[in-house]
Amino acid sequence: MSVAVIIVAAGRGTRAGDGAPKQWRLLNGQAVLLHTVAAFAGVGRILVVLHPEDMARGMALLGGTVTLVAGGADRAASVRAALDCLEGSDVTRVLIHDGARPLVPAGVIQAVLAALEEGPAAAPALAVTDALWTGADGLVSGTRDRSGLYRAQTPQGFHFPAILAAHRAHPGGAADDVEVARAAGLPVRIVPGHEDNLKITWPEDFARAGAIARERTKMDIRTGNGYDVHAFTEGDHVVLCGVKVPHERGLLGHSDADVGMHALTDAIYGALAEGDIGRHFPPSDPQWKGAASWIFLDHAVKLAQAKGYRISNCDVTLVCEQPKIGPHALDMGGELARIMGLAADRVSVKATTSERLGFTGREEGIAALATVTLIAE
Ligand code: MG
Repeated sequence: MSVAVIIVAAGRGTRAGDGAPKQWRLLNGQAVLLHTVAAFAGVGRILVVLHPEDMARGMALLGGTVTLVAGGADRAASVRAALDCLEGSDVTRVLIHDGARPLVPAGVIQAVLAALEEGPAAAPALAVTDALWTGADGLVSGTRDRSGLYRAQTPQGFHFPAILAAHRAHPGGAADDVEVARAAGLPVRIVPGHEDNLKITWPEDFARAGAIARERTKMDIRTGNGYDVHAFTEGDHVVLCGVKVPHERGLLGHSDADVGMHALTDAIYGALAEGDIGRHFPPSDPQWKGAASWIFLDHAVKLAQAKGYRISNCDVTLVCEQPKIGPHALDMGGELARIMGLAADRVSVKATTSERLGFTGREEGIAALATVTLIAE
């Protein structure tokens, strides 16, 4: 079974207030669309349908992580464009989701996929629990029986060939893909939706969605590790964790070769799933040649803060026979703490030898390991 996810975000909806269309506006510091895409990580191949004018913006936000598709004149045409892209692929199941539903729980997605094992179409919905009235001129003009009524959500899931054929046969004007499927005679199974799976429509929806997103990240504690090695070369000192230590040799490297600070910086990037130093400061870029490594560490710390995390603590271990680290360890911890804006007792620098074994034992270079813990604020 191969799953494709079509996220429809081609709308220009302005009901959510002034400013950019809602899919581009920020929810807890991150574009709504980025939250939506993240909700489907690991589910399958993701296609995001955008307004043709938004393609460059989509590329900047999502890069090569998804397939971007230019949308059509209306929602159905946009879905069609994405379905057409999948023709001839190995995709057997397709989930079609509103870009403005950024908080769809994993359980809802899995329930739709599970229901597709039993039939060609399934979609989440919530039974209507409020009383239903009709009204006119500010007065209640009647009541309606709510039994059997549902509030439809997405993702709406389908067997791929069936929904492709249904869309191609449909005359247009459908409210959603379930309507298209039903017009083609497909039975659509209802699976339980979720109140968190709200569609951002009005300005106040941002506040509600923000509160849900914050609640989810409350216990978000992340750990990252980093490892780095630099070889000895000619020189008269090494720089370790920001401290210049006299030594009869130097360390070889593109920057100042601060192996300890590099391991720590990579640990922070690791905790954020943001790659490593090389991704943010390419060694091929001459402007970083001989750069002081605090620039890298400072960038990683600020990136963590921008993503809503604070650094709880870090622990760096240097592995070398020489120079002796012990006399400098406190200074090194202090320097790292200063750069990261942390209390000294949250930063540990320690050292070990490798008992004269391996490349560190032969004094060919220095290795460093680092672990960091981040806590969502
Ligand atoms: Mg390095």
